[in-house]
Amino acid sequence: MAAAAEVAAMRRAIALSAAGLGTTSPNPPVGCVVLNPAGEMVGEGYHQRKGEAHAEGQALAAAGPLADGATAVVTLEPCNHQGRTSPCRQALIDARVRRVVIGIIDPTSRDGGGAAALRAAGVDVETGVLADEVRVVLGSWLAATQRRRPVLTWPYVISGSGIVALPDGMEDSWRLRLNADAVLRAGGSVTEAIPGRHGAGMLDVKDAPADSAASVLASLYEGGVRRLVLDGGLEVAVPFLEAGLVDQVLAYIAEGRASRRPEVGLPWPLLPPGFIVRDARRVGGFVRLTGEPGKIR
Ligand SMILES: [Zn+2]
Repeated sequence: MAAAAEVAAMRRAIALSAAGLGTTSPNPPVGCVVLNPAGEMVGEGYHQRKGEAHAEGQALAAAGPLADGATAVVTLEPCNHQGRTSPCRQALIDARVRRVVIGIIDPTSRDGGGAAALRAAGVDVETGVLADEVRVVLGSWLAATQRRRPVLTWPYVISGSGIVALPDGMEDSWRLRLNADAVLRAGGSVTEAIPGRHGAGMLDVKDAPADSAASVLASLYEGGVRRLVLDGGLEVAVPFLEAGLVDQVLAYIAEGRASRRPEVGLPWPLLPPGFIVRDARRVGGFVRLTGEPGKIR
């Protein structure tokens, strides 16, 4: 069983991993904390960008010689694949880490899993630690990987003129892009959520072919996009809604609606059919409802 210090360190590793949201694609956002035998933190790190050191490499570099005999706490199973850098499981073995505590096993691991390779090298390995909490950050990447398409969020405002895009400059709009890879607009034009952030050639977000919603998403996935935001009103979302490809909607409705007549001509009162309420809160003059497809449509 994971020690209390390891569980606490995993929660810190989750926070570190979230710092990579929106920049690591197509790689996963991962965090790592290194503990000495007394359970004190001696190094930490997270994966920032494809082509740069993985979370374990960052944390081991920070710990230096203190990694000898230490425990590495990492949100995702260390990689076991010889790519442009040597695999993280080898870095952990070379650093003489004694124990590795893992949140989630990597469903994409190649050449067998890193956990198995670590065990074979005599490292004590524990898996499944705080997996549900790790999924708060890794969930979108895992879902995108499983479905081989980006996870899709559609934010919209219910206004007098119908269902429209979030106004430019709205703080929530910026926040959403900060955590995403790319933005798709009406007409199929696609840009990086924050241009230039991924580095040249890391994401291939050329305008998507318009033949079907599914093929648009498949080609963006091939281009490295894992989290996609729709920027537009009903017209941009309808093909994706009809194909059942919208994973989350954020519906904004102005506050202060007591004794008012609702807008006329809406296709639905607030959420698309089949979506259920996951969260509701006030944000800067609006109520924001988070909706997700329900189990029963
Ligand atoms: Zn790695």
